[in-house]
Amino acid sequence: MFSFNERVAEIARQPRQAELEEHFTMPAPAKAVSVVTGGAGFLGSHLTDRLLAEGHHVIAIDNLITGNVANIGHLAGNENYRFVRHNVSNFIFLPEQKIDFVFHFASPASPIDYLELPIPTLKVGALGTHNSLGLAKDKKATFVLASTSECYGDPLVHPQKEDYWGNVNPIGPRGVYDEAKRFAEAMTMAYHRYHDVDTKIVRIFNTYGPRMRLHDGRVVPAFIGEALTGKPLTIFGDGSQTRSFCYVSDLIDGIFRLAMSDFHEPVNIGNPREMTIKQFADEIIRITGTKSGIEYRPLPEDDPKVRQPDIGRAKKILGWEPRVNFDEGIRKTIDYFRQHIELVNGTTK
Ligand code: NAD
Ligand code: UDP
Repeated sequence: MFSFNERVAEIARQPRQAELEEHFTMPAPAKAVSVVTGGAGFLGSHLTDRLLAEGHHVIAIDNLITGNVANIGHLAGNENYRFVRHNVSNFIFLPEQKIDFVFHFASPASPIDYLELPIPTLKVGALGTHNSLGLAKDKKATFVLASTSECYGDPLVHPQKEDYWGNVNPIGPRGVYDEAKRFAEAMTMAYHRYHDVDTKIVRIFNTYGPRMRLHDGRVVPAFIGEALTGKPLTIFGDGSQTRSFCYVSDLIDGIFRLAMSDFHEPVNIGNPREMTIKQFADEIIRITGTKSGIEYRPLPEDDPKVRQPDIGRAKKILGWEPRVNFDEGIRKTIDYFRQHIELVNGTTK
């Protein structure tokens, strides 16, 4: 038993509330703190690298539904990096008091992924965006939404400018992704207008580069994987549909500039160099030197016939335009997949 005086002395030794708070809340780093949802994905991991290089402290949140820890393996032990495994469609709690940016990149992104995961895709576009916006509002952070050229659907205007409202089939198989992103844009603008959150919306056009998943079904890894393993390149439809491919470092530079800007309406970021899917297959065959032929398969429902960004807004507002030409970017990507396939199979032959 303590005597009364011993008890008083014991209480006096206990830290006061202010000291407790100082002790138990996370230290507020002087550097900018960025949260990246979807941080273990293709784009989220490249964005993280750029933010770290800019001197930010980065907290990545990902449930690994389509992401890959190999994308962030090089960050293990980095004291400016923290990984949180969490589904952002559920409430997000972060103890950090200082958060300056929330980049909301979590979402299945390849047509195969979102066709297999229709409800998680709708949820992360709706509930995940709501929770990420709530986090940004609470911490008074800038919010950046990874939106998409899919907001334009199968476009009737070409090239696509930000003021085009799109041509989306809401009940088609791609609707789960397109409408989730359109809802996410509406929610983002509502938080900007009604809660005064500093928000940005980037409409990302087809981006490629290292760290894409070999079997994610998107045309870049599909064709490169097929070419490197001597299988026929599978063109859906007659190959006359067009896409415009942007190398990942260019895209990330545009996103970083947008995050630092004071512009709140959507901005297209992509490379306007447009080609047909048949021309793309021919380029992959030429550059890899493969003996693979081409095999034609049915065109998926609602597959957009054309896609090309008008980047006038990004040029004017951000002083941004892509710098990596197709040959350079695609060769780096082929090298990445070649190493990856060799690791998995022992050889690419
Ligand atoms: P990705 O699949 O490689 O990355 C998405 C990441 O989000 C994955 O790591 C996944 O595990 C994570 N994720 C998904 N749902 C989640 C959830 N509920 N909670 C936590 N994490 C979750 O795809 P990506 O190509 O890196 O795409 C990133 C973002 O950019 C997506 O929002 C996508 O819609 C958008 N985008 C990408 C492209 C492109 O060409 N890559 C084009 C347009 C838009
Ligand atoms: N595509 C193809 N073969 C494949 C994968 C995709 O011909 O193995 C086509 C697809 O039908 C679309 C284009 O390539 O017209 C781009 O597809 P991707 O899935 O990369 O992205 P999208 O732009 O359709 O979201």
